[in-house]
Amino acid sequence: MQNGKAWTGQLAQGSNGLYETYEKALALERKGAKIAKLNVGEPDWGPPLEAIRAAENAIAGGKTKYGSAQGELSLREKIAELHGGRAENIVITPGSKWGIYALMKTCLSRGDNVVAFSPHWSAYELMAKSFGAEFRAIGLEMGKKWATDLGGLENAVDAGTKLLVLNSPANPTSKAFSEKEENAVIGFAESRGITVIADDAYRGIAFEKMGERQFRNSGGVFVANTFSKTFGMTGWRIGYVVVPEAKAKELVSLNQITFTNVPVFIQACAEKAIEYGETAAREARKKCVLRAEAAAKILSGHLEFTRPDAGFYLFPRLPEGSDTLKFLDTMLGMGYAMVPGAAFGDFGRHFRMSLCLEKETIEAACGAVVETLEELE
Ligand code: PMP
Repeated sequence: MQNGKAWTGQLAQGSNGLYETYEKALALERKGAKIAKLNVGEPDWGPPLEAIRAAENAIAGGKTKYGSAQGELSLREKIAELHGGRAENIVITPGSKWGIYALMKTCLSRGDNVVAFSPHWSAYELMAKSFGAEFRAIGLEMGKKWATDLGGLENAVDAGTKLLVLNSPANPTSKAFSEKEENAVIGFAESRGITVIADDAYRGIAFEKMGERQFRNSGGVFVANTFSKTFGMTGWRIGYVVVPEAKAKELVSLNQITFTNVPVFIQACAEKAIEYGETAAREARKKCVLRAEAAAKILSGHLEFTRPDAGFYLFPRLPEGSDTLKFLDTMLGMGYAMVPGAAFGDFGRHFRMSLCLEKETIEAACGAVVETLEELE
């Protein structure tokens, strides 16, 4: 990968360092251990109270029956306003994970390939492989502050490349590509007839406000977004895609034959949450910045890492020759769960820590990281 060759992944079908770490932590908890879950990318904040009330009122008002497979019109209209499209361009999905899965399912055939910059959220790879497609990861370098690599992208694509997944800000690096970088990547994809899936899950909590990605009628860029991160609504399972009308129709058919619709009362919560979008994002950002600074202060000088541009992930690299899994096992023994970098591509010396806990816990975790590093030296 470092020599410009795309890494085609090593995760076995259905296996994933992310979920394995999660299960390990849960098993320890069942035995009575107290585990700080720095392994999960799940905000510890929730939606505004008014939005929760909207869901409660919707339940009390009987909005507990089947609904539109595309999503409630009033919610789609609000989302369309944010993205500059029309309600017809919006499909409500059970989390953006389903949205991305559905886009891949309707775009990919066996033998096609999907490209993405790496480190990458492993779900892209597992989804692509589940459709018999190849996943090609284009490795970025921490030393270059995870900047996009157009040369690597050009080397990775061929006639079989159907999709490019663009995740900015990214999981696990918290890197936000500049507008110029994004335009270059999208322009390149367009020139090769490759559709871009823009996974904007973390865009709302970018430290420098990014604004919602605008719908392009020309097609070519499908947007997937979620209420999970900015509004802390992970368990509510609601997200959406912004796509040309023809693609929306395909996704609606898929919804109809699978989950039918996202519960209407959950959509009521999301609709109300949008009204509080600015405030919620500001508060979430403030929290994230504070926590990132606290972690960086302790880890600086001990580990190499880049400062996050958004959200709550750090993706530090252990010193050369380190045994990452041993390090993470030691950390788990001390009560701190974190994810091996190998779960995000060819980044075995890295690990991901999610800063979704109180500042004091994050500081204690970072202190434990430094202590463990010194012991392992
Ligand atoms: N994209 C990225 C990059 C993510 O990290 C996640 C959640 N971990 C998602 C999409 C999906 O989130 P959800 O399904 O909760 O909307």
